Amino acid sequence: MKGQTAIITGASRGIGRTTAEEFAKRGVQVVIADIDKENAEKAANEIKSLYGVETLGIKADVSNPEDVKALFEETVKKFSKIEILVNNAGITRDNLLIRMKDEEWDSVLNINLKGAFLCSREAVKIMSKNRYGRIINISSVVAFIGNPGQVNYSASKAGLVALTKTLAKEYASRGITVNAVAPGFIQTAMTEQLPEKVKEEMLRMIPLGRFGTTYDVSNAIIFLALPESGYITGQVIHVNGGMYM
Ligand code: NAP
Repeated sequence: MKGQTAIITGASRGIGRTTAEEFAKRGVQVVIADIDKENAEKAANEIKSLYGVETLGIKADVSNPEDVKALFEETVKKFSKIEILVNNAGITRDNLLIRMKDEEWDSVLNINLKGAFLCSREAVKIMSKNRYGRIINISSVVAFIGNPGQVNYSASKAGLVALTKTLAKEYASRGITVNAVAPGFIQTAMTEQLPEKVKEEMLRMIPLGRFGTTYDVSNAIIFLALPESGYITGQVIHVNGGMYM
C-alpha cells in the first residue's frame, strides 16, 4: 500500500483516527476528513510528524454534497489520485421509536448512509479511471441484530450493507472492491456515553469477554484495503468478539 492515498471520513478520533495511523505506518498518504476543521488539521499534522507521510486535514461534513465534492477536489489537487476510501463518519441519536424526532432520524440517515453514498460517488469517478480502488464502509453489529432505541442508527447501518453489495457489483469490472466492516461494541467516545448498566449487559453478550478496541477494527479495514485482498468484494467482516455469528 506504500505510496497510495486514503481518505478516511470522521478520522480525527476513534476508529477513524486509529485507521488513519495504521495506514500512515504503512506509508499510505492519509486524508483526514472531519466535520470539525481544527480537529481534522490537528490530527493530520500529528500523523505527519509521527509517521513521516504526507497528510491532509480537511473540514468536510459528509452529508453535505458541496463539502464532499471539495474534499475529493482538494485531495486530487494534492495527491493526484485516491486508491482507498473508508466511509467511517457516523453518529448516533438514540430514542425509542415513539419518541424519535424527525431530526434524529434524518441526521443519522444523512450522515451515516447518505454520507457514504456521496463519498463513494466521488471516489468511483477517480478510481474507475485508474481501474483500481478499495472502498470500505463501516457498518455495525446492530444492522444484523437490531437494538432498541436505535431504529435510525441500525437502519442506516443495514442500508450500508446493501450499498456495499450493490456497489461491489457495479464496480467490480473497474477493479474497485467494496466491502464493509461491522464492529460490535468498541471502546470509543461513541460508546463511552452509554449507561454503565447497558455496558454490563453488552459485556455479557460477548463470548470473548471484552469490549473491542479501535485496533481490532482498523486491522480488518487494513486487510480489506490491501492490494492482495483484490478477490474479496461485497463482503462484511464482523469484528465483535463473537457477539453475533
Ligand atoms: P466517534 O469516536 O464518535 O468518531 C466519529 C467521528 O466522526 C468524529 O471524529 C466526528 O467528528 C466525525 N463526524 C461526525 N459527524 C460527521 C460528519 N457529518 N462528517 C464528517 N465527520 C463527522 O465514533 P467511533 O466510535 O470511532 O465510530 C466510527 C464508526 O464506527 C461510526 O460509523 C460508527 O457508527 C461505527 N461503529 C462504532 C462502534 C463502536 O462501538 N464505537 C460500533 C459499531 C460501529 P467530531 O469529533 O467533530 O464530532
